[in-house]
Amino acid sequence: MEDGRLGLPSASSWRRYELCPGSFQLEQEARALGQEAHQASTVASERGDKIHLALADEGIELSESENETAEFLRERADDQIKRIFGDEPVKILKEHRFWLQLGGRPVASGQFDRVIYTDRIALVQDYKTGWAEPDPAETNAQLKFLSVVVAMNLGHVTEVIAQIISGPFGVTETRFNLSELAHAYNDIVGTLRKLRDPQAPFNPSPEACQFCPAVNICQAVKDLILPIARLQHKALPDGERASQLLTECELLENHINSIRDYYAEKLLGDESYMIPGWTMEQGPPRRIVTDWHTARERLEEYIDSGDLNGAESYKIIAIEKALGKKLRLRGTELKAKLAEILNGLLEEKYPEKSLKRIKDQ
Ligand code: SF4
Repeated sequence: MEDGRLGLPSASSWRRYELCPGSFQLEQEARALGQEAHQASTVASERGDKIHLALADEGIELSESENETAEFLRERADDQIKRIFGDEPVKILKEHRFWLQLGGRPVASGQFDRVIYTDRIALVQDYKTGWAEPDPAETNAQLKFLSVVVAMNLGHVTEVIAQIISGPFGVTETRFNLSELAHAYNDIVGTLRKLRDPQAPFNPSPEACQFCPAVNICQAVKDLILPIARLQHKALPDGERASQLLTECELLENHINSIRDYYAEKLLGDESYMIPGWTMEQGPPRRIVTDWHTARERLEEYIDSGDLNGAESYKIIAIEKALGKKLRLRGTELKAKLAEILNGLLEEKYPEKSLKRIKDQ
Protein backbone atom coordinates (compact mmCIF):
# COMPACT_ATOMS: atom_id res chain seq x y z
CA MET A 1 0.00 0.00 0.00
CA GLU A 2 1.22 3.44 -0.94
CA ASP A 3 0.52 5.02 2.42
CA GLY A 4 2.84 2.75 4.41
CA ARG A 5 0.23 0.96 6.53
CA LEU A 6 1.29 -2.39 4.99
CA GLY A 7 -2.28 -3.68 5.10
CA LEU A 8 -2.26 -3.64 8.92
CA PRO A 9 -4.70 -1.82 11.21
CA SER A 10 -3.99 1.87 11.62
CA ALA A 11 -4.83 4.64 14.07
CA SER A 12 -7.05 6.60 11.70
CA SER A 13 -9.56 3.71 11.58
CA TRP A 14 -9.32 2.81 15.25
CA ARG A 15 -12.76 4.13 16.23
CA ARG A 16 -14.34 2.00 13.46
CA TYR A 17 -12.41 -1.07 14.63
CA GLU A 18 -13.61 -0.54 18.18
CA LEU A 19 -17.21 -0.20 17.04
CA CYS A 20 -17.15 -2.95 14.41
CA PRO A 21 -14.27 -5.44 14.82
CA GLY A 22 -15.42 -7.39 11.73
CA SER A 23 -14.70 -4.39 9.52
CA PHE A 24 -10.93 -4.97 9.43
CA GLN A 25 -11.14 -8.39 7.80
CA LEU A 26 -13.93 -7.28 5.49
CA GLU A 27 -11.94 -4.28 4.32
CA GLN A 28 -9.13 -6.66 3.28
CA GLU A 29 -11.70 -8.66 1.33
CA ALA A 30 -13.10 -5.52 -0.34
CA ARG A 31 -9.57 -4.53 -1.31
CA ALA A 32 -8.78 -7.98 -2.76
CA LEU A 33 -12.01 -7.86 -4.79
CA GLY A 34 -11.34 -4.31 -6.03
CA GLN A 35 -14.54 -3.21 -4.26
CA GLU A 36 -13.17 -0.66 -1.81
CA ALA A 37 -15.52 2.21 -1.02
CA HIS A 38 -14.63 5.83 -0.22
CA GLN A 39 -11.40 5.77 -2.24
CA ALA A 40 -11.99 8.81 -4.44
CA SER A 41 -10.52 11.99 -3.03
CA THR A 42 -12.97 14.84 -2.48
CA VAL A 43 -12.33 18.57 -2.72
CA ALA A 44 -12.30 18.69 1.10
CA SER A 45 -9.84 15.79 1.46
CA GLU A 46 -7.48 17.23 -1.17
CA ARG A 47 -7.59 20.58 0.62
CA GLY A 48 -6.88 18.85 3.93
CA ASP A 49 -3.94 16.90 2.45
CA LYS A 50 -2.38 20.08 1.05
CA ILE A 51 -2.73 21.93 4.35
CA HIS A 52 -1.23 18.98 6.24
CA LEU A 53 1.74 18.89 3.85
CA ALA A 54 2.26 22.65 4.24
CA LEU A 55 2.16 22.27 8.04
CA ALA A 56 4.82 19.58 7.74
CA ASP A 57 6.98 22.12 5.84
CA GLU A 58 6.76 20.18 2.59
CA GLY A 59 6.95 23.43 0.56
CA ILE A 60 3.60 23.02 -1.14
CA GLU A 61 1.80 25.84 -2.93
CA LEU A 62 -1.48 26.81 -1.24
CA SER A 63 -4.41 29.00 -2.28
CA GLU A 64 -5.10 32.08 -0.18
CA SER A 65 -7.84 30.38 1.84
CA GLU A 66 -5.77 27.19 2.34
CA ASN A 67 -2.84 29.30 3.47
CA GLU A 68 -5.04 31.20 5.93
CA THR A 69 -6.23 27.92 7.46
CA ALA A 70 -2.68 26.52 7.62
CA GLU A 71 -1.31 29.65 9.29
CA PHE A 72 -4.17 29.77 11.77
CA LEU A 73 -3.68 26.12 12.75
CA ARG A 74 0.09 26.57 13.01
CA GLU A 75 -0.30 29.57 15.30
CA ARG A 76 -2.90 27.80 17.44
CA ALA A 77 -0.67 24.71 17.72
CA ASP A 78 2.45 26.77 18.51
CA ASP A 79 0.57 28.58 21.32
CA GLN A 80 -0.03 25.18 22.89
CA ILE A 81 3.70 24.33 22.75
CA LYS A 82 4.49 27.57 24.55
CA ARG A 83 1.78 26.92 27.14
CA ILE A 84 3.01 23.38 27.85
CA PHE A 85 6.79 23.62 27.48
CA GLY A 86 7.48 27.33 28.03
CA ASP A 87 11.16 27.97 27.19
CA GLU A 88 12.22 24.37 27.70
CA PRO A 89 14.17 23.05 24.63
CA VAL A 90 12.06 20.56 22.67
CA LYS A 91 12.49 18.16 19.76
CA ILE A 92 9.91 17.91 17.01
CA LEU A 93 8.81 15.10 14.70
CA LYS A 94 6.36 15.75 11.87
CA GLU A 95 4.16 13.45 9.76
CA HIS A 96 5.87 10.36 11.06
CA ARG A 97 4.52 6.80 11.36
CA PHE A 98 5.17 4.82 14.55
CA TRP A 99 4.56 1.09 14.80
CA LEU A 100 3.05 -0.99 17.55
CA GLN A 101 5.04 -4.22 17.87
CA LEU A 102 3.85 -7.40 19.53
CA GLY A 103 6.20 -10.36 19.91
CA GLY A 104 8.81 -8.46 17.89
CA ARG A 105 6.51 -8.03 14.89
CA PRO A 106 4.74 -4.87 13.71
CA VAL A 107 0.98 -5.31 14.14
CA ALA A 108 -0.51 -1.82 13.72
CA SER A 109 0.64 1.72 13.10
CA GLY A 110 -0.32 5.35 13.42
CA GLN A 111 0.88 8.45 11.60
CA PHE A 112 0.80 11.66 13.61
CA ASP A 113 0.88 15.24 12.36
CA ARG A 114 3.34 16.52 14.95
CA VAL A 115 4.97 15.30 18.16
CA ILE A 116 6.88 17.74 20.36
CA TYR A 117 8.85 16.09 23.13
CA THR A 118 11.38 16.43 25.91
CA ASP A 119 12.86 13.74 28.15
CA ARG A 120 9.67 13.67 30.23
CA ILE A 121 6.70 14.77 28.13
CA ALA A 122 5.46 14.17 24.59
CA LEU A 123 2.78 16.36 23.04
CA VAL A 124 0.86 14.78 20.13
CA GLN A 125 -0.94 17.29 17.92
CA ASP A 126 -3.51 16.31 15.33
CA TYR A 127 -4.71 19.02 12.92
CA LYS A 128 -8.29 18.95 11.71
CA THR A 129 -8.86 21.09 8.62
CA GLY A 130 -12.56 20.44 7.95
CA TRP A 131 -15.88 21.76 9.21
CA ALA A 132 -17.14 18.52 10.72
CA GLU A 133 -16.81 18.50 14.51
CA PRO A 134 -14.03 16.04 15.42
CA ASP A 135 -14.32 13.59 18.34
CA PRO A 136 -12.87 15.50 21.28
CA ALA A 137 -9.39 14.44 22.40
CA GLU A 138 -10.75 12.91 25.63
CA THR A 139 -12.72 10.24 23.70
CA ASN A 140 -10.75 10.16 20.46
CA ALA A 141 -9.69 6.57 19.63
CA GLN A 142 -7.10 7.70 17.08
CA LEU A 143 -5.38 9.92 19.65
CA LYS A 144 -5.45 7.12 22.22
CA PHE A 145 -3.65 4.84 19.76
CA LEU A 146 -1.15 7.56 18.77
CA SER A 147 -0.42 8.35 22.43
CA VAL A 148 0.40 4.71 23.13
CA VAL A 149 2.71 4.26 20.11
CA VAL A 150 4.43 7.56 20.83
CA ALA A 151 5.07 6.47 24.43
CA MET A 152 6.39 3.10 23.26
CA ASN A 153 8.66 4.62 20.61
CA LEU A 154 9.96 7.46 22.82
CA GLY A 155 10.63 5.17 25.75
CA HIS A 156 11.80 7.85 28.20
CA VAL A 157 8.58 9.91 28.37
CA THR A 158 6.37 9.51 31.42
CA GLU A 159 3.43 11.59 30.22
CA VAL A 160 1.75 12.00 26.82
CA ILE A 161 -0.50 14.96 26.11
CA ALA A 162 -2.69 14.61 23.01
CA GLN A 163 -4.52 17.45 21.31
CA ILE A 164 -6.96 17.99 18.47
CA ILE A 165 -6.23 21.35 16.84
CA SER A 166 -9.17 22.61 14.83
CA GLY A 167 -10.07 26.02 13.40
CA PRO A 168 -13.81 26.09 14.07
CA PHE A 169 -13.78 23.84 17.17
CA GLY A 170 -10.68 25.07 18.99
CA VAL A 171 -8.32 22.81 20.92
CA THR A 172 -9.31 19.75 22.92
CA GLU A 173 -6.77 17.95 25.07
CA THR A 174 -6.28 14.76 27.00
CA ARG A 175 -3.40 13.50 29.14
CA PHE A 176 -2.05 10.03 29.79
CA ASN A 177 0.25 9.22 32.70
CA LEU A 178 2.08 5.88 32.77
CA SER A 179 -0.78 3.95 34.33
CA GLU A 180 -3.32 5.46 31.90
CA LEU A 181 -0.99 4.57 29.02
CA ALA A 182 -0.83 0.99 30.29
CA HIS A 183 -4.63 0.89 30.43
CA ALA A 184 -4.91 2.33 26.89
CA TYR A 185 -2.33 -0.22 25.67
CA ASN A 186 -4.36 -3.12 27.08
CA ASP A 187 -7.46 -1.69 25.46
CA ILE A 188 -5.70 -1.51 22.08
CA VAL A 189 -4.32 -5.03 22.37
CA GLY A 190 -7.86 -6.21 23.24
CA THR A 191 -9.22 -4.56 20.09
CA LEU A 192 -6.41 -6.06 17.99
CA ARG A 193 -7.30 -9.52 19.31
CA LYS A 194 -10.94 -8.98 18.26
CA LEU A 195 -9.87 -7.84 14.77
CA ARG A 196 -7.99 -11.10 14.21
CA ASP A 197 -10.84 -13.33 15.37
CA PRO A 198 -12.30 -15.15 12.32
CA GLN A 199 -15.70 -14.67 13.99
CA ALA A 200 -15.19 -10.94 14.60
CA PRO A 201 -18.66 -9.39 14.98
CA PHE A 202 -20.19 -6.77 12.68
CA ASN A 203 -21.97 -3.86 14.33
CA PRO A 204 -23.41 -1.53 11.72
CA SER A 205 -23.98 2.05 12.85
CA PRO A 206 -23.81 5.39 11.01
CA GLU A 207 -20.60 6.26 12.87
CA ALA A 208 -18.82 2.99 12.04
CA CYS A 209 -20.04 2.59 8.47
CA GLN A 210 -19.70 6.19 7.30
CA PHE A 211 -16.19 5.78 5.87
CA CYS A 212 -15.85 2.00 5.96
CA PRO A 213 -14.07 0.71 2.83
CA ALA A 214 -16.14 -2.48 3.06
CA VAL A 215 -19.60 -0.89 3.01
CA ASN A 216 -20.35 -1.94 -0.59
CA ILE A 217 -19.97 -5.64 0.20
CA CYS A 218 -21.15 -5.67 3.81
CA GLN A 219 -24.03 -8.07 4.38
CA ALA A 220 -24.60 -6.75 7.91
CA VAL A 221 -25.51 -3.32 6.51
CA LYS A 222 -27.70 -4.80 3.78
CA ASP A 223 -29.55 -6.93 6.35
CA LEU A 224 -30.17 -3.91 8.52
CA ILE A 225 -31.50 -1.61 5.84
CA LEU A 226 -33.73 -4.17 4.15
CA PRO A 227 -36.64 -3.72 6.58
CA ILE A 228 -37.01 -0.04 5.59
CA ALA A 229 -38.41 -1.07 2.23
CA ARG A 230 -40.78 -3.49 3.96
CA LEU A 231 -42.13 -0.98 6.44
CA GLN A 232 -45.73 -2.02 6.88
CA HIS A 233 -47.00 0.78 9.12
CA LYS A 234 -49.93 2.83 7.96
CA ALA A 235 -48.14 5.87 9.36
CA LEU A 236 -44.50 6.49 10.15
CA PRO A 237 -43.66 5.39 13.70
CA ASP A 238 -42.78 7.63 16.68
CA GLY A 239 -40.49 7.22 19.68
CA GLU A 240 -37.86 4.47 19.76
CA ARG A 241 -38.90 3.00 16.42
CA ALA A 242 -38.65 6.47 14.81
CA SER A 243 -35.12 6.80 16.17
CA GLN A 244 -34.21 3.37 14.80
CA LEU A 245 -35.81 4.18 11.44
CA LEU A 246 -33.80 7.40 11.11
CA THR A 247 -30.58 5.50 11.91
CA GLU A 248 -31.47 2.93 9.24
CA CYS A 249 -32.16 5.78 6.77
CA GLU A 250 -28.71 7.23 7.49
CA LEU A 251 -27.11 3.83 6.84
CA LEU A 252 -29.13 3.38 3.67
CA GLU A 253 -28.20 6.87 2.43
CA ASN A 254 -24.52 6.21 3.11
CA HIS A 255 -24.74 2.83 1.39
CA ILE A 256 -26.45 4.28 -1.71
CA ASN A 257 -23.96 7.17 -1.95
CA SER A 258 -21.09 4.73 -1.67
CA ILE A 259 -22.50 2.59 -4.53
CA ARG A 260 -22.86 5.70 -6.72
CA ASP A 261 -19.31 6.86 -5.84
CA TYR A 262 -17.93 3.43 -6.74
CA TYR A 263 -19.41 3.48 -10.26
CA ALA A 264 -18.64 7.18 -10.80
CA GLU A 265 -15.00 6.49 -10.01
CA LYS A 266 -14.89 3.48 -12.37
CA LEU A 267 -16.42 5.48 -15.23
CA LEU A 268 -14.04 8.38 -14.64
CA GLY A 269 -10.95 6.24 -14.26
CA ASP A 270 -11.38 3.86 -17.20
CA GLU A 271 -12.64 5.14 -20.57
CA SER A 272 -13.44 1.64 -21.74
CA TYR A 273 -15.68 0.89 -18.75
CA MET A 274 -19.38 1.11 -19.69
CA ILE A 275 -22.65 0.88 -17.78
CA PRO A 276 -25.65 0.66 -20.12
CA GLY A 277 -27.85 3.72 -19.71
CA TRP A 278 -25.44 5.63 -17.48
CA THR A 279 -22.72 8.18 -18.07
CA MET A 280 -20.64 10.81 -16.28
CA GLU A 281 -22.07 14.15 -17.27
CA GLN A 282 -20.54 17.59 -17.02
CA GLY A 283 -22.90 20.05 -15.31
CA PRO A 284 -23.26 23.67 -16.48
CA PRO A 285 -20.48 26.08 -15.52
CA ARG A 286 -20.85 28.57 -12.65
CA ARG A 287 -19.84 32.15 -13.29
CA ILE A 288 -17.30 33.51 -10.84
CA VAL A 289 -16.29 37.18 -10.59
CA THR A 290 -12.52 37.44 -10.21
CA ASP A 291 -12.37 41.05 -8.95
CA TRP A 292 -15.45 42.34 -7.15
CA HIS A 293 -14.01 45.80 -6.52
CA THR A 294 -13.64 46.60 -10.25
CA ALA A 295 -16.90 44.77 -11.01
CA ARG A 296 -18.75 47.01 -8.58
CA GLU A 297 -17.30 50.18 -10.14
CA ARG A 298 -18.51 49.07 -13.55
CA LEU A 299 -21.93 47.92 -12.35
CA GLU A 300 -22.61 51.22 -10.56
CA GLU A 301 -23.02 52.77 -14.01
CA TYR A 302 -26.12 50.61 -14.49
CA ILE A 303 -27.42 49.65 -11.05
CA ASP A 304 -28.19 52.00 -8.10
CA SER A 305 -25.74 51.58 -5.24
CA GLY A 306 -28.75 50.85 -3.02
CA ASP A 307 -29.66 47.85 -5.18
CA LEU A 308 -26.02 46.78 -5.28
CA ASN A 309 -25.79 47.01 -1.50
CA GLY A 310 -28.99 44.94 -1.36
CA ALA A 311 -27.12 42.18 -3.21
CA GLU A 312 -24.57 42.20 -0.43
CA SER A 313 -23.64 38.58 -0.87
CA TYR A 314 -22.59 39.54 -4.44
CA LYS A 315 -24.32 36.54 -5.88
CA ILE A 316 -24.15 36.83 -9.68
CA ILE A 317 -27.76 35.84 -9.92
CA ALA A 318 -28.83 38.78 -7.69
CA ILE A 319 -26.68 41.22 -9.68
CA GLU A 320 -28.12 39.88 -12.93
CA LYS A 321 -31.66 40.29 -11.61
CA ALA A 322 -31.00 43.93 -10.62
CA LEU A 323 -29.42 44.65 -14.02
CA GLY A 324 -32.32 43.02 -15.86
CA LYS A 325 -34.79 45.17 -13.93
CA LYS A 326 -32.86 48.33 -14.73
CA LEU A 327 -32.24 47.67 -18.43
CA ARG A 328 -35.46 45.70 -19.00
CA LEU A 329 -33.54 42.75 -20.35
CA ARG A 330 -34.09 39.03 -19.87
CA GLY A 331 -32.60 35.65 -20.75
CA THR A 332 -29.63 35.40 -23.08
CA GLU A 333 -29.69 39.15 -23.83
CA LEU A 334 -29.33 39.88 -20.13
CA LYS A 335 -26.54 37.34 -19.73
CA ALA A 336 -24.68 38.80 -22.73
CA LYS A 337 -25.01 42.35 -21.34
CA LEU A 338 -23.65 41.31 -17.95
CA ALA A 339 -20.78 39.47 -19.66
CA GLU A 340 -20.03 42.64 -21.68
CA ILE A 341 -19.99 44.87 -18.57
CA LEU A 342 -17.84 42.45 -16.61
CA ASN A 343 -15.59 41.61 -19.55
CA GLY A 344 -12.31 40.21 -18.22
CA LEU A 345 -13.69 39.82 -14.69
CA LEU A 346 -15.81 36.72 -15.22
CA GLU A 347 -14.58 33.17 -15.10
CA GLU A 348 -16.56 30.01 -15.68
CA LYS A 349 -15.97 27.16 -13.29
CA TYR A 350 -17.22 23.70 -14.12
CA PRO A 351 -18.40 21.44 -11.31
CA GLU A 352 -17.06 17.90 -11.13
CA LYS A 353 -18.76 15.45 -13.50
CA SER A 354 -21.56 13.47 -11.92
CA LEU A 355 -23.24 10.16 -12.62
CA LYS A 356 -26.39 10.63 -14.74
CA ARG A 357 -28.91 8.31 -16.29
CA ILE A 358 -28.87 8.69 -20.10
CA LYS A 359 -32.33 9.84 -21.18
CA ASP A 360 -34.52 7.42 -23.16
CA GLN A 361 -32.66 4.36 -21.89
S1 SF4 B 1 -19.94 -1.39 6.67
FE1 SF4 B 1 -20.37 -1.07 8.83
S2 SF4 B 1 -21.02 -3.03 9.62
FE2 SF4 B 1 -20.06 -3.40 7.65
S3 SF4 B 1 -17.96 -3.88 8.15
FE3 SF4 B 1 -18.03 -1.70 7.75
S4 SF4 B 1 -18.34 -0.77 9.75
FE4 SF4 B 1 -18.84 -2.92 9.97
